[in-house]
Amino acid sequence: MDPDPVEMANEVKSKIILHWNCRGLMEFPEVIRQHGSHIQEIYLKWNKLTTLPPWITELFNVTNLYMYGNRIEQLPVELGEMTQLTVLDLSANKLELISGCIGNLSNLKSLYLNDNFIKRLPIELSQLNNLEILSVSGNQIVALPEWTGSLPRLQELYVDNNRLKELPNRLTIAPELTMISVCSNRLKYLPLNGFLSAPCIRFDANEYLNYVSYPLLFQLLSQLRTTVVRDRECLAFGCFKTHYDTNMLNTNTKLYIKMKGLHEINADVIIELPRQMLKIHEVHENVTSSLLELALRKVYTERYKHTLDVSVSPANVTILYKPLKNIELDFTLSTSYTLYNLLTNGPTGICINSQCQQPIFTEAWIIVGVNRYAESMITIALCCSRSCATAFAAHSSTTTINLHWHSIN
Ligand SMILES: [Zn+2]
Repeated sequence: MDPDPVEMANEVKSKIILHWNCRGLMEFPEVIRQHGSHIQEIYLKWNKLTTLPPWITELFNVTNLYMYGNRIEQLPVELGEMTQLTVLDLSANKLELISGCIGNLSNLKSLYLNDNFIKRLPIELSQLNNLEILSVSGNQIVALPEWTGSLPRLQELYVDNNRLKELPNRLTIAPELTMISVCSNRLKYLPLNGFLSAPCIRFDANEYLNYVSYPLLFQLLSQLRTTVVRDRECLAFGCFKTHYDTNMLNTNTKLYIKMKGLHEINADVIIELPRQMLKIHEVHENVTSSLLELALRKVYTERYKHTLDVSVSPANVTILYKPLKNIELDFTLSTSYTLYNLLTNGPTGICINSQCQQPIFTEAWIIVGVNRYAESMITIALCCSRSCATAFAAHSSTTTINLHWHSIN
């Protein structure tokens, strides 16, 4: 039986929050347009809508719009005029493209786009300066843009069940992040730096992931509130499945690690380094860093006056990586785009020598460790120079987190 239009009109008139879930609606009800300009929240979950009407902009008091579980394929550009929106839920629809008009929703705090068919996030979303929750799980996203790390208020980021191969380095310097969830992707590495805001990081079921960095391991252990982990599955359930990377087609720098005789692992391991890491030196290699690398370190250090304070004590590990002076980078035209990107995306790592702590961008001396507690978990530490690598290797036996360190040579 069709709903009585008079009854519907009366309901719209008498309510501020409209719950019309599971009603088999094929279209956004016109009756809301006629009588609902005062409505603040609209729930139309589990209906059969295929789009939103252009007149939706007339509902200028609506702050929360819940369209979960419909059949929406496209969004009208007019949606971008609903700048009063704070919550927009378009999960479980049939969206393939996210219209750039969403970027105009300047008051949006929560954006849910889970379980659609989205392949990429448009750059217009980088304008969402008030966004606190971005949830895009269950899509087909291959790469998360670097600008996700620049959303100034972003607290929670959910990108589970996608096709991510890496995370943007800039996420490590996002100021407000409390939660990153990237389970069930194709991640080959996590950022090598610790995260500035020390968020909770969930990355289970990334079977190609086969190592973590030393600073990140500290952060993971501090989340567990213990440094005693009997099994790496506690830290990274469903990771470390593939020791040998057969996909050699991409151009990332890789490290071949001979594991024979180390603990109970006998398989050799190839680990893939983040894209921005262009060159790896052996500890005994008597070279200095390139001019590009030295310039990046100098500019970044002078502009940001960063500090890294790694204070280590069991069960109370804190990592503080903090730009003390958060000033805008100001570049002359001669600075190349690549250089600019490298600087704004933040350093790949920080020299592990606590006396040094230089930012590292494109090249490093790497020391490899195997964690005794999280069994057979490969950990890597970055050093800015041969002398830092040598110094760290000499003193690494005193680190409280129990790692066997091996220099590469
Ligand atoms: Zn150093």
